[in-house]
Amino acid sequence: MHRKIGVMGGTFDPIHHGHLVAASEVADRFSLDEVIFVPTGQPWQKSEREVSPAEDRYLMTVVATASNPRFSVSRVDIDRGGLTYTADTLADLHASIPDAELFFITGADALQQILSWRKIDELFRYAHFVGVTRPGYELADGHLPEGSTSTVEVPAMAISSSDCRARVAAGRPVWYLVPDGVVQYISKRSLYMDPGR
Ligand code: ATP
Ligand code: MG
Repeated sequence: MHRKIGVMGGTFDPIHHGHLVAASEVADRFSLDEVIFVPTGQPWQKSEREVSPAEDRYLMTVVATASNPRFSVSRVDIDRGGLTYTADTLADLHASIPDAELFFITGADALQQILSWRKIDELFRYAHFVGVTRPGYELADGHLPEGSTSTVEVPAMAISSSDCRARVAAGRPVWYLVPDGVVQYISKRSLYMDPGR
């Protein structure tokens, strides 16, 4: 029987309980065998904000997911390097696990952007898309191929990495927003201390 695998791409700077709850909810809803978290590659150029080193983001993701036997972390985007395109992520995962049915999990905001891309048909060939939303939010589904996307409501949507970084920079707590091991990792590596980042 082919396996159903969730793919949760993200910068994970840092990973937080919103990401973990989203993965868990979608896994339950679609009876997924596994969810693979895929931290994005390092942008070559500075964008508006400097992203933390890929290895730090990768290790925080490993720490956060280690206790769940159905969660794992892939290095495909980090090892490819540069900006990550979802088409590349899905093509690489499809090549390494060709018989799996892939479910790409993303925030509804990001899903709206993905749906405005070129080569959208290519994306839908590799995966079913699941947009996670705040309770009560309706995804405007415009021009989506029939049956290619679903939405799942997630209760912890108010947590964001930007808020976690701002909290650390201001000396405020991130306990219970991110897993304990991630709080400790942030402190050990002095991440997010500079408010300019
Ligand atoms: P930032 O605040 O820097 O934008 P983020 O919290 O959105 O970070 P990302 O790593 O950019 O985190 O997100 C990875 C994926 O998880 C994206 O698809 C995003 O939409 C989704 N996501 C982010 N926060 C939540 C949340 N609280 N609940 C569910 N999904 C989330
Ligand atoms: Mg975001």
